[in-house]
Amino acid sequence: MTRDPSCIFCKIVAREIPAQLVDSGDGYVAFRDINPQAPSHILLVPVNHKSDVTQYDDAQELGEVFKAAARVAEKEGLKGGFRLVVNTGDDGGQTVHHLHIHILGGRSMNWPPG
Ligand code: 5GP
Ligand code: ZN
Repeated sequence: MTRDPSCIFCKIVAREIPAQLVDSGDGYVAFRDINPQAPSHILLVPVNHKSDVTQYDDAQELGEVFKAAARVAEKEGLKGGFRLVVNTGDDGGQTVHHLHIHILGGRSMNWPPG
């Protein structure tokens, strides 16, 4: 397991700071966003610290993260649909530099996202 000692999501993964856990499984943790933008707003975070999607060499490893996000959305009961968002880098609006998938649902989404 790779970890960055200054990373807030690594600390949540290690249960060193509290979060509202939704699910956890092989290689990931899912918890509620502290500042929800939809009735359901879950962050799916891989256990291994990698800053963003550009840091993945292993397509299988990255794919497992998306499979996990789809499972969590299903468990959350988001039958009408949901949105997965992966903000990447400063222009992408990323503020926590540990890859995470936003799972947003419980309302209909707008496009373009802004
Ligand atoms: P980003 O902007 O990097 O894509 O998303 C980071 C997300 O993490 C934001 O939606 C923010 O509300 C959430 N967040 C930041 N710090 C914490 C925290 O300590 N706990 C939880 N549960 N969410 C956090
Ligand atoms: Zn981290």
